[in-house]
Amino acid sequence: MDISLLKQLQASAQDLAAIEARPEVSVVVPIYNEVESLPHLIEAIATTLSQAQLNYELICVDDGSQDGSAQLLKELSLKTPHLRGVLLRRNYGQTAAMAAGFNYARGNAIVTLDGDLQNDPADIPMLLAKLEEGYDLVSGWRKNRQDAALTRLLPSKIANWLIAQTTGVQLHDYGCSLKAYRSELVADMNLYGELHRFLPALAFIEGARITELPVRHHARRHGQSKYGLGRTFRVVLDLLTVFFMKKFLTRPMHVFGLLGIISTASGIGLGLYLTVLKLGFGESIGNRPLLILAVVLLLTGVQLFCFGLLGELMMRTYHESQGRPIYRVREVVEQGVRNSDQAG
Ligand code: UDP
Ligand code: MG
Repeated sequence: MDISLLKQLQASAQDLAAIEARPEVSVVVPIYNEVESLPHLIEAIATTLSQAQLNYELICVDDGSQDGSAQLLKELSLKTPHLRGVLLRRNYGQTAAMAAGFNYARGNAIVTLDGDLQNDPADIPMLLAKLEEGYDLVSGWRKNRQDAALTRLLPSKIANWLIAQTTGVQLHDYGCSLKAYRSELVADMNLYGELHRFLPALAFIEGARITELPVRHHARRHGQSKYGLGRTFRVVLDLLTVFFMKKFLTRPMHVFGLLGIISTASGIGLGLYLTVLKLGFGESIGNRPLLILAVVLLLTGVQLFCFGLLGELMMRTYHESQGRPIYRVREVVEQGVRNSDQAG
């Protein structure tokens, strides 16, 4: 047989194997100093998912732990089927660890949860079933949350309310890590800062169908929480970013330009009024606060215009440099063509 043909056949057999190896579900877990929880976590996930007869992979991302989690994860990954250990060089934070996990995930659906066993892996099949109903994102809702009341529950209540108001996505619990996504959705989103809790909001911007399900929540058994009150401020700042992205992502000039017009027009109006007073009535206007206001308004207006223009340029770079279209297609329907989205 022709050797190149043989090679081609081998290659396509490999392709087929790769396609078959594509798991239905990738479970992504960020791990930072969770050495005691790690073995229990891996076992609990394996038990649930094999009972549910799901073809899955488990991606544990070690976020630069200093307590031996990384070493343990390495050992376990070498002998546990379905487990991939991704070890980051240093501690980057939960959002970055999750982003790394997303990058290595190959499944059609992606499930995230915490590595401290506060989320219950037994809830995963339920979330996946909900996803199958046609949602792009199913978010967990810790109805009976087991955390400190004053330092955690109260700030979280306020944050959830604020996030719901600003983003327009109505969920009870944004901070719950237990969530299920369609993988195409995850591929469309970029993560920065503490943005992982805003994934539903970012998904909403991308036009996703979102819902929530009550899930179990347990008190932390091993190790300590990595966060305190300080997180609240970072969350609020990230909220501003998300708000901005939602509002102005495609048309910054519409926002800044409008403010610029208002400011410039008022500045010109006041200036004309003062000119009339000066030239027509001979009044002295040099010491009037109104003059300062007119000048400030004029300058501000010009600057707002410039912001709008710069924003437009930056948005073009943002979309074009990454090949990001300004729209998202849910599916394409055509006679005789099966939609790959549904086939998968
Ligand atoms: N985590 C991480 N990097 C960090 C901090 C936390 O990967 O810098 C992980 C941590 O191991 C856990 C999850 O993020 O799996 C949530 O952290 P934690 O349980 O401390 O947060 P809480 O549940 O108290 O909000
Ligand atoms: Mg926790």
